[in-house]
Amino acid sequence: MNDCIFCKIIAGQIPSTVVFEDEDVFAFRDINPQAPQHVLVVPKKHIEKLNDLTADDALTVGKLLVATCRVAREHGMDAQGYRIVLNNGEGAGQSVWHIHAHLLSGRPFRWPPG
Ligand code: AMP
Repeated sequence: MNDCIFCKIIAGQIPSTVVFEDEDVFAFRDINPQAPQHVLVVPKKHIEKLNDLTADDALTVGKLLVATCRVAREHGMDAQGYRIVLNNGEGAGQSVWHIHAHLLSGRPFRWPPG
């Protein structure tokens, strides 16, 4: 996707602080962190929103979640706890149209979320 900012980050056309990469998944620090640790984990496959997922995406999404938890462990977030957030649609706060998991840690999190 030529105009997708996350596709450009994955391709190295826009700089980012990379924390993890494999064949299917790319993870980098959020430019506007909402917690002491805030990492975005994205599939390399461009999918605009969670609502577009089909059964064919099950492996992609599974790898996304496994990689997110791996990053959490490798950055010591599991001891204190971490939150994974996926926003779908403007009403839920989605602003970049390439699915991504927010991995947040380093402060207490309220429930229900705001
Ligand atoms: P969302 O609002 O759920 O779509 O999340 C999009 C996230 O992307 C926000 O937390 C932004 O701060 C983050 N973001 C946007 N542009 C960049 C960028 N160039 N590098 C890192 N994070 C970004």
